[in-house]
Amino acid sequence: MSKMRAIQVPYAQGPFELVEREIPEPGVGTVRIKVEACGVCHSDSFTKEGTMPGIQYPRVPGHEVAGVIDAVGPQVTQWKPGQRVGVGWHGGHCGDCSSCRRGDFVACQVAPQVSGITLDGGYADYMIAPVGALALIPDELSAVEAGPLMCAGITTYNALRNSGARGGDVVAVHGIGGLGHLGIQFAAKMGFRTVAIARGKDKEALALKLGAHHYIDSAEQDPVAELTKLGGAKVILSTVTSGKAMSSVVGGLGVNGKLVVVGAADAPLEVSGLWLLSGRRSITGWPSGSAIDSQDTMAFSALTGVRSMSEIYPLDRAGEAYERMMSGKAQFRVVLTTGQA
Ligand SMILES: [Zn+2]
Ligand SMILES: [Zn+2]
Repeated sequence: MSKMRAIQVPYAQGPFELVEREIPEPGVGTVRIKVEACGVCHSDSFTKEGTMPGIQYPRVPGHEVAGVIDAVGPQVTQWKPGQRVGVGWHGGHCGDCSSCRRGDFVACQVAPQVSGITLDGGYADYMIAPVGALALIPDELSAVEAGPLMCAGITTYNALRNSGARGGDVVAVHGIGGLGHLGIQFAAKMGFRTVAIARGKDKEALALKLGAHHYIDSAEQDPVAELTKLGGAKVILSTVTSGKAMSSVVGGLGVNGKLVVVGAADAPLEVSGLWLLSGRRSITGWPSGSAIDSQDTMAFSALTGVRSMSEIYPLDRAGEAYERMMSGKAQFRVVLTTGQA
């Protein structure tokens, strides 16, 4: 009973290894979570490929964790065993730097903790998390439903709710993948005139089913012209990973419009300075959020029926699950389950 399974990356660009480890004991200010599900995110490649400096190996990836508190460490007063919790990208913060003193924990400059990168994450039967990283899972959501909301969900939900768009505004979601299929649902449920932009006629039916009011096939139509016909977008939420593709839609912003980037683009964006200033347009990025934002994401999803479409793999097939996610062919998130639900 004192052993658990974990999937670790032994070194940068190493293979996923299924290993047996001691079940860890929670230290001061942390809890132990019995993991039920953990989403596989593109950012897990930072750990797998070693593309983020400073990662200490071996490391267990995973920042879309859903499970149950199983034990609490010393000085934990607000959390107890049996509570269902999720853990996302934000794995803790220092509390003392200038960002933390302003309550901007995600932008912590001194000791930002990231699940699966600076701390062992959720590709395991158990994980340890600081209390600052915990989000309560509502009863309506299963662990498999909650997992992807901890990164793909919070990122799109939090970007949209902080974008300045108001009910009825034209909001475009660029790309229909792991992030985009959630972004379309959130935008529609927030009351925006929701426009889905993707390549190919075949994605139209799905986009409309997810709640989009309009579909723009960027392979056949000019997204700039189509958005302009709708009065111009107040917000374009860009979930794609191509800088060129982002540059090709930004012209669809209306006056005071904002391009919100949540996909890590492979190349710089190209945009006219005159066009930006003449219409007070802007380009900004958005990084997920803190634990309470994750909790809000899940509460909103429970309330409105937003759900991730996910492919499920058992924990010991993590390597296969990761390859599937990296292939870009998954419909749409990939989630590992431990069988402990
Ligand atoms: Zn992620
Ligand atoms: Zn800090």
